[in-house]
Amino acid sequence: MNSPTSERAWRAIYRLLDRVSPVPYDCGTLCGAACCRAEEPGKEMGIYLLPGEELLHPRPEDPENDWLIWREDDPEEHGLPCNWPKPAYFVRCKTPPKCPRELRPFQCRTFPLKPFINSDGILTLVYNLDDLPYKCPLAWQAMELTEDFVKATYTVWYHLLRDPAVLEMVAEDSDLEL
Ligand code: SF4
Ligand code: SF4
Repeated sequence: MNSPTSERAWRAIYRLLDRVSPVPYDCGTLCGAACCRAEEPGKEMGIYLLPGEELLHPRPEDPENDWLIWREDDPEEHGLPCNWPKPAYFVRCKTPPKCPRELRPFQCRTFPLKPFINSDGILTLVYNLDDLPYKCPLAWQAMELTEDFVKATYTVWYHLLRDPAVLEMVAEDSDLEL
């Protein structure tokens, strides 16, 4: 099943997020780029591309894309919603924290905020305080984030919720039954 978020829409999302940053300086200096360098014994660290996001990335066998290691997963076996398109693309960078900035995945661009749908069905953004092998100082110290970043992140999540697979993922994370 193809994602309802087209390649064109994904390009617009990347463009919008290219223009913003959570804070007006390199937050990697606060923590040694902890979110890029995360490691956990016995666990392969990386991120899932959202449905359709893979359209923006050359195929893994393309030498221009050799900065990522790709894995194709069965979504249901990896805790993703059952309506997620198959396969789910799990990627990790070969040389973190260095990457082609204009190609970094969506989840890297919107961290440390994550979407949350409240009991009134309204989308909000919250700091990501998930159990991760590192603690992002921006999130755990509730540091002020730039208004542009918060607005752009809200806009793109709002748009992406039109995809039933993304909606299901966010609803599950929000402990909400659709
Ligand atoms: S987002 Fe958080 S964990 Fe990642 S580099 Fe910035 S401060 Fe560090
Ligand atoms: S793609 Fe870039 S920003 Fe994202 S985890 Fe890798 S090195 Fe960090």
